[in-house]
Amino acid sequence: MILKFFMPTKVFLGKDCIIDNAAQMKALGKKAFIVTGKSSAKANGSLTCVQAALQASGIAYSVFDRILSNPSIELVREAAKIAREEKADFIIGIGGGSPMDAAKAIAVLAANEVDDTVLFLGPYPYPVLPIVAVPTTAGTGSEVTQYSILTDDRQQTKSSIANEAIFPQIAFLDASYTQNLPPHVTINTAIDALSHAVEGYLSAKATSVSSMLASESMTILGKCLKVLDEKVDFAAREQLLYASMLAGMVIAHTGTTALHSMGYSLTYFRDIDHGRANGLLMYEYLEFIAVQDGSIIDKIVNLLNMENLGELKNCLDKLFKDKESITKSEIQQFSAKAIQAKNIINTIPLPSQEDLAGIIERSFCR
Ligand code: NAP
Ligand code: FE
Repeated sequence: MILKFFMPTKVFLGKDCIIDNAAQMKALGKKAFIVTGKSSAKANGSLTCVQAALQASGIAYSVFDRILSNPSIELVREAAKIAREEKADFIIGIGGGSPMDAAKAIAVLAANEVDDTVLFLGPYPYPVLPIVAVPTTAGTGSEVTQYSILTDDRQQTKSSIANEAIFPQIAFLDASYTQNLPPHVTINTAIDALSHAVEGYLSAKATSVSSMLASESMTILGKCLKVLDEKVDFAAREQLLYASMLAGMVIAHTGTTALHSMGYSLTYFRDIDHGRANGLLMYEYLEFIAVQDGSIIDKIVNLLNMENLGELKNCLDKLFKDKESITKSEIQQFSAKAIQAKNIINTIPLPSQEDLAGIIERSFCR
């Protein structure tokens, strides 16, 4: 057996976990640079909790609250310049995947004035600043991954940094902050987590440990899927956050696959939310895999506690309602971009561009 498992992030999950474990941040330095989106971190109480924990630990801080969804390289460069001027010792990302991913890139760039090629491929001349992640959506798992996904206008897609230096040192997961997520964000992010668990399970890089984590994540998400369009209570919110973290640990080892490659095109060119993009393509992607290996798809359906793939399709159709319309020329454009993505090689069977075009066409034109 050959196994590599690496998970350097200290995880604290539970109500009030930030204030209860505030002292953990003392080892990271005297000055924090907090990175958030425009408004949600203020509204859901997470920013106040982090500020109180820093004050209790005698750590100074400044706040950059201008991260947009699908953050661009230019924006993280702008924030990193400020972090450098502020002489920050470590970076705290609070929010969905966008502020957490931005925090990781800022931690690289605050310590290293490097061009885009080095930013994406490394190695970095100086040590990356330590990172603390506080997820307020239950979806990306970014709090436990070595990925930062940025909008890359030169490449006309979303490009990923994948580097062990950007694993957060600490992740604080308190589901209280997710209680007032708008329904569409709850749904989209949960389906992103499901994509990670499913793709990780199917990945060419899957291991016994990653598949165990993916199985647990799918078992929980299968139950949650059935209540996502209702009022989601605290217990379910905590389960979603836990399952999303497990799925993050999965993709930290397996990477994502063609489903995410195609999803990036839908987000880049049509501004479709990341989780929704994956969810709209998921059924046809699984049908494509099933042609070669029906038994692995049966296992996924079982873990989700569903009768068959059709039940998953009905569930996704119900959650996502009307689909966007996509033209034939867009299908060509999106599949041509997706086939060049790094994560394509994790897909079994390896798809051709025509295969991807077929998946996109069947997902949107039926
Ligand atoms: P997001 O872009 O971070 O946030 C989406 C929206 O939700 C924003 O409007 C945000 O508002 C709001 N929001 C966040 N938390 C909230 C809360 N608790 N209550 C109310 N509103 C809240 O969405 P996301 O789906 O979490 O992240 C998507 C990004 O993560 C994409 O760029 C994707 O590529 C990336 N991703 C990364 C990984 C990884 O391993 N690194 C994995 C998968 C996806 P504000 O702007 O005001 O905060
Ligand atoms: Fe994702």
